Amino acid sequence: MTTPDDDVPAQLAQRPDLLADAAQRALRYLAGLDSRPVAPAAAALAGLDRLDFPLPGPGRPGKDVLALLDEAASPATVASGGPRYFGFVIGGALPAAQAAAWLTAAWDQNAALTVMSPAAARLDAVALRWVTELLGLPPGTGGGFVTGASMANATCLAAARDAVLSRHGWDAAGQGLVGAPPVTVLVGEQVHTTVRKALGLIGLGRDRAIVLPTDSQGRIVPHSLPILNAGPALVCLQAGNVNSGASDPFGDLIPWAHEQGAWVHVDGAFGLWAAADPSRADQVAGVAAADSWATDAHKWLNTTYDCGIALVRDPAALRAAMQATAAYLPTAEHREAMNLTPQSSQRARGAEVWAVLASLGRDGVAGLVERTCRLARRFADGLRAVGYEVLNDVVLNQVLVDFGGPDRTAAVVAAVQRDGTCWCGPTSWQGRPAMRISVSAWNTTAADIDRSLAAVLGCASRD
Ligand SMILES: *Cc1c(COP(=O)(O)O)cnc(C)c1O
Repeated sequence: MTTPDDDVPAQLAQRPDLLADAAQRALRYLAGLDSRPVAPAAAALAGLDRLDFPLPGPGRPGKDVLALLDEAASPATVASGGPRYFGFVIGGALPAAQAAAWLTAAWDQNAALTVMSPAAARLDAVALRWVTELLGLPPGTGGGFVTGASMANATCLAAARDAVLSRHGWDAAGQGLVGAPPVTVLVGEQVHTTVRKALGLIGLGRDRAIVLPTDSQGRIVPHSLPILNAGPALVCLQAGNVNSGASDPFGDLIPWAHEQGAWVHVDGAFGLWAAADPSRADQVAGVAAADSWATDAHKWLNTTYDCGIALVRDPAALRAAMQATAAYLPTAEHREAMNLTPQSSQRARGAEVWAVLASLGRDGVAGLVERTCRLARRFADGLRAVGYEVLNDVVLNQVLVDFGGPDRTAAVVAAVQRDGTCWCGPTSWQGRPAMRISVSAWNTTAADIDRSLAAVLGCASRD
């Protein structure tokens, strides 16, 4: 038996081999992504039982633990990092992102404060500036890296709540909402569920919002907009509907909301990236006039999980909502991540975003958005060509298809998932069940679309 003191040299001695082994296994895993079924096979799922044993007393050697992890868990992963995963809105991880993720894991930095990691703090600041520039948002926009667009929505809406109440003489950060003037909240009929969840988390209620009607693509209709009676108000808009990919008409809605004295928040988890592609930027024209924006890097920018971005036009509003104070914490001399996000301790998410943006550049990001949108259209055209109905205007990277009624569509989705060539999920659009295709990964090629289309058409003709 080893004593704790013996353990340190033993751990140190195994580190080089263990990390080299991990790198080799990771590379083997990645090399196999293209040739394996996208969804794990039943036998692979059964293999997960090997991971589920009573907590050991004495530990096992690191190399055995890693081998078991790889042998039992790797086959039971979903090949969502491969080129033919079209479920939800996922995206893969660019090699530059993965390489930066490995290096930052070795750093093991706490990015909460500059004093804890000057490198992480600088990378955060530069990456946020680049994202702001790329998305065409106002220079000087404040922001922070969070776990995803869900948390980015909650972060931005917390800043929004405090700011609109402060304008009406109420200190929500200090006094909470008990006794506060009521805050009017408006959302579109097609609001993403995570915006409702965020509204619940910040005390404004999931179900209290006034709902604005939307059109056939899920865009808020800019007619007969309500009068808000000059009280505190938040308007939640959307860049990129999670089904159709359509964006709200910001050019009409934001000036109206601002005339009413409302704060405008935009959920742009993936759709905001249309701004980075000159041929699609018109879809989000006017979005820069909003007051806050939530987006993801782990979706369309293809970083690893998890990485969302909360952006707020007025950095002071974000800081007022997120500031933490204690005797041992520095006062606001630098930009401090823990004063701009709900987290204190946090990983150095900005490093990976920095690496992806430095390696792709403005042109590479535009190319990524342009290519995935073009491939989504190729998929849609192939489905339409044989008579299936595509339910949305394919303006971005999302495609909704009806294979001939609810039962047939459900059967085709199940058959596609079993077939394993690609993976698509079910959804419902304007009351009609549909299969949803999202092309969000850097490594999808035209050949992948053609192969997937053939597999889907095969499933549809059999079921
Ligand atoms: C994915 C998505 C979210 C939630 O993002 P997470 O990164 O999963 O938290 C919110 N809004 C929209 C429109 C989305 O597509």
